[in-house]
Amino acid sequence: MAIIDIKVPDIGDFAEVGVIEVLVQPGDTIRAEQSLVTVESDKASMEIPSSHAGVVKELKVKLGDKVAEGSVLLTLEVAQGAAAPAAAPAAASTPSAPPSESKPAPAPAVQAPAAPKTEAASFGGSADVECDVLVLGGGPGGYSAAFRAADLGLNVVLVERYATLGGVCLNVGCIPSKALLHVAAVMDEVSHLKSAGIDFGAPQVHIDTLRGHKEKVIGKLTGGLAQMAKMRKVTVLRGYGHFVGANHLEVEETTGTSQDKTGAKKVVAFKRAIIAAGSQAVRLPFMPDDPRVVDSTGALALQGVPKRMLILGGGIIGLEMGTVYSTLGARLDVVEMMDGLMQGADRDLVKVWQKMNQHRFDNVMLNTKTVAAEATPEGIKVSFAPAKDGVTVPEPQVYDLVLQAVGRTPNGKKIAAEKAGVAVTDRGFINVDIQMRTNVPHIFAIGDIVGQPMLAHKAVHEAHVAAEVIAGELQGNKELASAAFNARVIPSVAYTDPEVAWVGLTEDQAKAQGIKVKKGLFPWAASGRAIANGRDEGFTKLLFDDSPEAHGHGRILGGGIVGTHAGDMIGEIALAIEMGADAVDIGKTIHPHPTLGESIGMAAEIAHGSCTDVPPQRR
Ligand code: FAD
Repeated sequence: MAIIDIKVPDIGDFAEVGVIEVLVQPGDTIRAEQSLVTVESDKASMEIPSSHAGVVKELKVKLGDKVAEGSVLLTLEVAQGAAAPAAAPAAASTPSAPPSESKPAPAPAVQAPAAPKTEAASFGGSADVECDVLVLGGGPGGYSAAFRAADLGLNVVLVERYATLGGVCLNVGCIPSKALLHVAAVMDEVSHLKSAGIDFGAPQVHIDTLRGHKEKVIGKLTGGLAQMAKMRKVTVLRGYGHFVGANHLEVEETTGTSQDKTGAKKVVAFKRAIIAAGSQAVRLPFMPDDPRVVDSTGALALQGVPKRMLILGGGIIGLEMGTVYSTLGARLDVVEMMDGLMQGADRDLVKVWQKMNQHRFDNVMLNTKTVAAEATPEGIKVSFAPAKDGVTVPEPQVYDLVLQAVGRTPNGKKIAAEKAGVAVTDRGFINVDIQMRTNVPHIFAIGDIVGQPMLAHKAVHEAHVAAEVIAGELQGNKELASAAFNARVIPSVAYTDPEVAWVGLTEDQAKAQGIKVKKGLFPWAASGRAIANGRDEGFTKLLFDDSPEAHGHGRILGGGIVGTHAGDMIGEIALAIEMGADAVDIGKTIHPHPTLGESIGMAAEIAHGSCTDVPPQRR
């Protein structure tokens, strides 16, 4: 026997990534290629596999540690003679941007899909329905893929287990949360009007009506999708789909508002398939099964307003839901294992949000783990422990509502993908190439199930790529067949109040990766519109390439905005990055006055040195 170090292999452009999951323990017997840890940047999560089989002797990393290529993850006892180095590549679960001419914003490394772990099953039965393209899952990824494929002339079957299309986003995600956040933002704004001489008095909250309003918003959108599917002649099959072979999917019919099976089954035969089965909320194993413990879907059900609410996980989803409940009257605590809330965004952006929102929180517990929870008549009693040396944590606390918002896990292991020969990672992701193709050439995958960032706009773009590649292949159209997901950047938005939005390279990443940038930061305290709105706490920040090769005319690499409507404006910065714009291009683009959007032009002018809306800049 020999003891060897298992190290982080080449992880593409990332200088440093955080360990968000440790998947093995000392004493575990592991096989070569087995996932050891999951690491995450703001763009992608990756499982780092072992290069050797053996027995784990000692872990060298823990949750929250930062690692880079060459960092030792653990020591492994291996058979003599098996110790020759053979670093396995990390399995990135998101396709990447292609190399760009200027220094690109960081993107996950391109990975060829993993080799199939199983041979596809052979299906000997007959099919009830035949189609060119089978799409599994009717979320933003699935319905967009189905509609694009139908628009390109293909015969499409879309399988969805729930009664309505729209997936997580329309039914229990993006849309209902924004319907409630809008109401909360208006309530907060109205309360500020008192200082402008308008007093509406204390709000009366009618929770049933509010829930009804949210349901109406969902119904309008999901109803619209059903109509659009009909207009495109997409066959929608209601039921739970699972593969029974490389070209066949069995659909177990479901009914009602849930996933109740009727017992009826249909087999769909397909030439090509697109897997868009999405993700679901992670549930901590020690959480009691109690109606006072909810995930985001439970929180959106809006059963009432708790007095004390704990948000488990300081990411975007938890903080958005916390904003709603706090405006409706709840006091909040938040517990986060990392050293800051809203990981991924630059700290200066988050600081503005935090200052404006501190009144909502009794406790912001950073570097803190939740270790136990118990259902008591008084509430859910939750215990905490430090996630880092030197951190003090409070005594166990009792809450009326606990929201688990610690991440989402892909549904890859629930669709019998192995029967089609499709490889699924230990965590349930399906690796794809830049055309969204899995290891099985006629089967594609898109959306949350292929990896971070788990965002609807990423799913939709991936959906169009998969549909176009398939149409191109089936119709002999070379241009369509060469479609690829080659976005340079994917914007992120926290629809809190103020909103926090960012895209491309962040300042923290630039520092960590030693990328020289020129910053243009326009404070909204100098924006006429922000002052007129009574909301001048924000700022707009742009980062331009300042490497010697850029000769002072560097292209934009990233940007961030904190302030009201930041999410509506971040698309302009994404466009500028995609177009390779520099500070002059953006600064000389005439933005209407007075708007919040002109802060983007002014931030570019500041980087360029030509802004006249701020005090003179030192040369
Ligand atoms: P999903 O939306 O998860 O859809 C997958 C579909 O497949 C589901 O309808 C599911 O029922 C179906 N399915 C799964 N397995 C089967 C099966 N075996 N048979 C039949 N059907 C199956 N993203 C944003 O971009 N912006 C936001 O503001 C935003 N807010 C969010 C707020 C919340 C509270 C949450 C939870 C998520 C939010 N997201 C947001 C994320 C966004 O909802 C997801 O990224 C997006 O829905 C992913 O789309 P998808 O098509 O990959 O998967």
